[in-house]
Amino acid sequence: MRETNSYKQLRENLLSLNLNQMALHLDEVLDFGIQSGASLTEVLVKLTNHEIDIQEQQKTHRMIRSAALPSPKRLDTFDFSFQPSLNRDQIADLHSLRFIERNENVVFLGPSGVGKTHLATSIGVEAALARHSTYFTKCHDLIQKLRIAKQENRLETKLKHFARYRLLIIDEIGYLPIDAEDAKIFFQLIDQRYEKKSTILTTNINFGSWEEVFVDPKLANAILDRILHHATVVPISGDSYRLKDHRTEQTVSDETDNIEHY
Ligand code: ADP
Ligand code: MG
Repeated sequence: MRETNSYKQLRENLLSLNLNQMALHLDEVLDFGIQSGASLTEVLVKLTNHEIDIQEQQKTHRMIRSAALPSPKRLDTFDFSFQPSLNRDQIADLHSLRFIERNENVVFLGPSGVGKTHLATSIGVEAALARHSTYFTKCHDLIQKLRIAKQENRLETKLKHFARYRLLIIDEIGYLPIDAEDAKIFFQLIDQRYEKKSTILTTNINFGSWEEVFVDPKLANAILDRILHHATVVPISGDSYRLKDHRTEQTVSDETDNIEHY
């Protein structure tokens, strides 16, 4: 028979220590101990594992949430047959996060809708799952945050904040022009991360035209130099996946139209 008082006390202790999973599974683990004749150590390991499992899960969820990824896209939903220009092994290798260990960068370069954000995001999910501090931002939002910080005399702090992420994903470089003042701030961030942390960038602008995006050609080159020194560039040439969906919808609606007409 279970010692009622000490059992109750143990349960209360676990709850007051916030070890809720251990309290929840206490009965089941004690029964396991009695039935299997497992040692006290084995029983305690089994009990503490319940708490560790849930804490790991919660930590992972927090990492994913704080990464601010636009959607939980994964590589398994990426259709390589639609994008034959891509090297599957290279993309799989990027998802192994080896580049993060080596503080290298990745640039996805290509027109709209070819999957740049999808792939940057799916690598971001892997990084967050592997507990690398990860943050996803559109280039324009990042620059805006840095600009406001500068106006409020806290640029250094903000730069340090963004420089600390193990993986920073900067989406959509070049969709909007970046003036000389903003380009300087952006350069500072890239310079602080250079050879220390990994950055993934997506862009629809060929490197030769970055001078136009960053207005000041010297700054554009300094930025590109640091990004590309240790980088995997993944050019994606092909059709927009968005238009493929559009075409499918079009076909479906055409068919629906036809049905209605008959
Ligand atoms: P980009 O950033 O290059 O403009 P996105 O990554 O945003 O393009 O892709 C547009 C949409 O199409 C997204 O919903 C994305 O998940 C999807 N998509 C793009 N390419 C593929 C692909 N090869 N397989 C599956 N989904 C894709
Ligand atoms: Mg995109």
